[in-house]
Amino acid sequence: METPNASNFLETIIAEDLAAGRVQTVVTRFPPEPNGYLHIGHAKSISVNFGLAETFGGRCNLRFDDTNPEKESQEYIDSIQEDVRWLGYNWDGEVRFASSYFQQLYDWAVYLVEQGHAYVCDLNAEQAREYRGTLTEPGRNSPFRDRSVQENLDLLARMKAGEFAEGAKVLRAKIDMASPNMNLRDPILYRIRKVPHHQTGDSWVIYPTYDFAHGQEDAIEGITHSVCTLEFEDHRPLYDWFIEHLPVTARPRQYEFGRLNPSYTITSKRKLKQLVDDGVVAGWDDPRMPTIAGMRRRGFTPAAIRRFCKMIGTTRSDGVVDVAMLEFAIREDLNENAPRAMCVLDPLKVVLTDYPQDKVEELLAARHPSRTELGERIVPFTRELYIDADDFREEANKKYKRLVLGKRVRLRNAYVIEAVDVVKDAAGKVLEVHARTIPDTLGTDPADGIKPKGVIQWVSASLGKRATVRLYDRLFNHESPDKGDRDFMAHINPDSLRVVEQAWVEPALVRALPEQGFQFEREGYFVADRYDHSEQAPVFNRTIGLRDSWAEQGGAGE
Ligand code: ATP
Ligand code: MG
Repeated sequence: METPNASNFLETIIAEDLAAGRVQTVVTRFPPEPNGYLHIGHAKSISVNFGLAETFGGRCNLRFDDTNPEKESQEYIDSIQEDVRWLGYNWDGEVRFASSYFQQLYDWAVYLVEQGHAYVCDLNAEQAREYRGTLTEPGRNSPFRDRSVQENLDLLARMKAGEFAEGAKVLRAKIDMASPNMNLRDPILYRIRKVPHHQTGDSWVIYPTYDFAHGQEDAIEGITHSVCTLEFEDHRPLYDWFIEHLPVTARPRQYEFGRLNPSYTITSKRKLKQLVDDGVVAGWDDPRMPTIAGMRRRGFTPAAIRRFCKMIGTTRSDGVVDVAMLEFAIREDLNENAPRAMCVLDPLKVVLTDYPQDKVEELLAARHPSRTELGERIVPFTRELYIDADDFREEANKKYKRLVLGKRVRLRNAYVIEAVDVVKDAAGKVLEVHARTIPDTLGTDPADGIKPKGVIQWVSASLGKRATVRLYDRLFNHESPDKGDRDFMAHINPDSLRVVEQAWVEPALVRALPEQGFQFEREGYFVADRYDHSEQAPVFNRTIGLRDSWAEQGGAGE
């Protein structure tokens, strides 16, 4: 057992329940609706639910809340399972489906009717809204509220048999039309929906509402702590009402915590789907998406995502979390674990005029500055190299610590060189730098005492390989892109993707495995694309820069 964490109020509640003997084994569940891919907010919910089970030696179920067949699909069911596993969690037993409880839920609906606690109502949507009242005015009883048990049983059976059109009738609980809590004003239990279901096919033409399904599913599975987000707080009295009025054999309790809303991000599945449907991104797993599949493709690691979810704590407030904290978590993980390599994004040729034409030196370079167990790699050194165009200037002031004409720089993991000449095109653009190698400077300073000021990365021009590098940045350029009625589509960062087709990488990198992450020295953290990378056509995605460049620029606030 891990030690309970003080920044998670749910752990305190559970520890008390266990100590008082109210609960023997903690059972939680993660209940996604399969109507989209999981996102960073779900990662938080997963981390909370699976984390609580882990901490207290209990179990956590994965249950698809599949009560809205129109919006759901097998693609989402598959992706959700893959994402939960990738994050490193194992659910208890088989994956579960709300739809496998449809018969039990229906039987309970019949039970409520028999007890006089539910009735079939013929009000149409507009009338029902009118009868429902407002936050300041009580509602009015439906004219169908006093139907006899017998009539209700008959109508419910005929709803189930498909005799009525969609919208013609609903089954409602008989609670209190004057309740200050709108959720208790005779809420809907069943709707007629003549659509096939991905799990149950054509068996059902009526489907339970979330409210009628969720708590009962929890009870069936013996869930002890039903953890959800704060927007369900007002639904809790209804959750409890069903549990109290039905012959269920377990007594789950609902607890709410604040949703995770990272800045510069949206976490609504509907809006994420719009980004996909409108082609703003290349799919649910586009590396710019805050989906788990997107973050995975971007090069985030499960450990970094789990670490972030812990770091932000679990509280009862819905505040915005600075996305820089998530970026910090991934940067820290990769700094610790990612092997180093060299990549030149904007190649400028350097010819070492004193270096023999066909000579190749196989220089050794550490894979990681502190993790010696990761060993060394071979970096071939040749007469013609590429450095980044940004790392050379004909003239520069003292602050510029890279290669300047007539000055020296150290090539990372290799020699000190001195630029002696440039070749330009007709427009004066530098095409090539001619330089000389300073002898005996592998790992030591020049013997003449003239030390270089900086170190730059390089790749052999003759033995390095061309690679495509995708430079990803935040998808939104506004801190809270969908707050209130703000149009998130108007705040897409136009520079969220820049593709570099002619980057140059160390030869060994083409054999990187898909999803293998690296620090490209001085450039940032990159990952071999999960799908598109191959030895013949290497593709790397930028996970994150070395530093928080947004904080340096001041970001784009409210
Ligand atoms: P929908 O808009 O489709 O209802 P949802 O985000 O509520 O989307 P669900 O699939 O119902 O999606 O969510 C599964 C679980 O994840 C729920 O318990 C929900 O409370 C939780 N969850 C969803 N979004 C967040 C978030 N941003 N932060 C924390 N938990 C979340
Ligand atoms: Mg939901």
